[in-house]
Amino acid sequence: MDIISNISSLREWRIQVAACGDSVALVPTMGFFHQGHTALMRMARRLADRVVVSLFVNPIQFGPGEDLDLYPRDLDRDRETAAAAGVDILFVPAATAMYPEGPGTLVVAGPLAANLCGRTRPGHFDGVCTVVAKLFNLVQPQVAVFGRKDFQQLAIIRNMVVDLDFPVKIVSHPIVREADGLALSSRNLYLDPEERRQALCLVQGLRRAKTLYNEGERDCVRLRDEVATLIRARPLAAIDYVSLVSRDRLVDMGTADNNTVMVLAVRVGSTRLIDNTILSDEDL
Ligand code: AMP
Repeated sequence: MDIISNISSLREWRIQVAACGDSVALVPTMGFFHQGHTALMRMARRLADRVVVSLFVNPIQFGPGEDLDLYPRDLDRDRETAAAAGVDILFVPAATAMYPEGPGTLVVAGPLAANLCGRTRPGHFDGVCTVVAKLFNLVQPQVAVFGRKDFQQLAIIRNMVVDLDFPVKIVSHPIVREADGLALSSRNLYLDPEERRQALCLVQGLRRAKTLYNEGERDCVRLRDEVATLIRARPLAAIDYVSLVSRDRLVDMGTADNNTVMVLAVRVGSTRLIDNTILSDEDL
């Protein structure tokens, strides 16, 4: 595996790959790899001849007071992990390489960014779309792999690809979880042991909603209230949102159906965690 940190070297590599006629898969990440990331890398490995993983803690998707400076980093460990997962190129640009003059032209996320995380993190998805668009232009992948853990991000990227005619296929990977159900996240590192215990309220809430749905409950207010009550019983947990939305347009639902997703954002201590599930899926 090679590490590339400057844009001209990446472009040279891409020209050589094009000359061989090989296909390229891209996995965009912010690093501090866990098994969620490696699952995406292995999926990418199966989908194309060459795999590029970008590792970039993108400053323009963090708001004021968010954890940009604290965000965990461990390049040595990430390098080993990516190499073991069969990655060909780890692209690790500096912020000055990606935004030499500071943020300039931005890609504005469409209407799907109005709800959920877009409400509490204004500008976040514009930062995500901008960096992903840049990565698509730099790496020119035929396929890009994203995790379903960031459900809204995935929907927004799918829309961006259609709206801006990027010639890339978006493939999603299911959420990878700890044995007890907590969705893997680089931010789980922030949790102390008691917060880690209480963080289970997210997956417990999703399971509760699924059980009720399977028993026939379709009223989204009742489903939401049940889950909110369960989460509020944990003193360290504070709800950002508990929502039931349609899986494609992310609009709030009144009556749940097989395409309804429960999406959660919960602060546990000072750590903001997200999780989601399609109510009709048997995945939890
Ligand atoms: P991040 O480094 O957190 O920005 O994540 C990079 C990619 O990995 C995104 O597409 C995420 O959705 C995906 N990802 C992160 N955690 C998980 C997980 N637990 N399961 C599946 N995909 C994940």
